[in-house]
Amino acid sequence: MLGLYVHIPFCSAICNYCNFNRGLFDAALKTRYVEAIISEIDRAGRAGGAGGDAADTIYFGGGTPSLLEPDEIVRIIAACRRAFDVAADAEITLEANPESVDEARLAGFRAAGVTRLSFGVQSFREPELRRLSRLHTADRARAAVFEARAAGFENISLDLMMWLPEQQVAEWLESVDAAIALAPEHMSLYLLEVYPNAPLKDDMARARWSQAPDDDAAAMYLTAMERLDAHGYEQYEISNVARPGRRSRHNIKYWQDGEWLGFGCGAHSTRRGVRWKNVASTDEYVRRLEQSGSPAIDRRLLSSDEHLGDALFTGLRLTDGVNLDAIRAAHGVDVWARYGADLERFLQAGILRREGPRLWLTRQGMLLAHDHFRLALELFFGLE
Ligand code: SF4
Repeated sequence: MLGLYVHIPFCSAICNYCNFNRGLFDAALKTRYVEAIISEIDRAGRAGGAGGDAADTIYFGGGTPSLLEPDEIVRIIAACRRAFDVAADAEITLEANPESVDEARLAGFRAAGVTRLSFGVQSFREPELRRLSRLHTADRARAAVFEARAAGFENISLDLMMWLPEQQVAEWLESVDAAIALAPEHMSLYLLEVYPNAPLKDDMARARWSQAPDDDAAAMYLTAMERLDAHGYEQYEISNVARPGRRSRHNIKYWQDGEWLGFGCGAHSTRRGVRWKNVASTDEYVRRLEQSGSPAIDRRLLSSDEHLGDALFTGLRLTDGVNLDAIRAAHGVDVWARYGADLERFLQAGILRREGPRLWLTRQGMLLAHDHFRLALELFFGLE
C-alpha cells in the first residue's frame, strides 16, 4: 500500500536550529498553496487511472501543518480519496505545534478525518524551550495533549529532543518523565544536531552555551530508552518508541523499503524503483502548479546497488532489522556472501547481531548509528 505525504511549509516563527524546508506563514500564499497541493494530488490521480492506487496512510508534515484550517485539511484529504483508493481505516497523521492549537481547532482536525497527532514538544523545561526559540511553554504542550484527548484523539505522538545546549542528563530525563506522565501512544526522541549555519550556533557562541560531553549524550539516549522500556513503550526504530500496535504505519514505509508519494514543495516520492522530488521553493512550487506545470525535479531510476543500499540503511534503523532472505528475494544479492567478512567484526563488537536470516543493530549499535547513521553503515557495508 502507498503512503501519501503532504508537505506544509509554513511556520509562525523560524526556530533557531531548524533546517527543514519551511518559511514564515503568509495567509495569501497559504491559500494558493492549498489549491496547488489539491491540483497536484488530482493530477496524480488522473495519471494513476480509474479507481486509483491503494493507500493506507496520509501524513501531513512540515513546517507546521496545524496552521492550516480544518476545512483545508478536509479538502486535501478529499483530494487524496478522489485520487487514490484510501483505506477506510487509514492512518492520517497531522504534525502540530502546541501553540497553534486549541480544543475547537483540534476537534475540527478530528472531524476532518485526522486520526493521529504528532506534537513537536522538544522539551518540558522552560529554559530549554527558550534556548531553542520555541514559541510554546511546557504548560501549553501539556494543555495541547489534554485538548487533543478531549477532541477525541486516541493516537498521539510527542517529539522530544536531547543533547540541548546546557542540558544535563537529569534535566533531559525530567522531560522524558513529563512526556511519560502524559501517556502518549508514541514518542520520537532525537539528538539535536547543530547545523553549521544555524542561528542556534551563533546564539550558543554569544551566550556561551555548550552541549554536554558525548558520553552524556550516550547516557541520555540509553537511559531514556530504558525508562521508556520500563513504562511499556517498545523501541521499534533508532529514534521511535510506541505502545503495542501504535507504531507509525506511515514512517515504517520509509524504513521497510515501501512506496510513497509526496505532495507539496520539496516532497520526495519513491515508486516502482523511481525516485523524484518536488522543487523546494514554495513560490516556485505554486507557480508551476498554477501554470499547469510539473513540480517534479530530479526524477531518476535507482540503480540496483542504490536500491539495495537503501533497503539496508533504512531497514537497519528498525529494531527488527532486516531479513536477509527477503533482501535476497527482492534484490538478488546474498548480503552475507558479499559483506559478511566486513560485518563479522561488528558482530564481535556487539554492534550488530545475526540470527538465521535476521540481522539487526543492538541498542549499542543504534546509539552509534543515531547521529552518524550513513557513516556507520558505510563502515559496515562499504556502501555510499
Ligand atoms: S516549528 Fe518545526 S519546521 Fe517550523 S521552524 Fe520550528 S523546527 Fe522548523
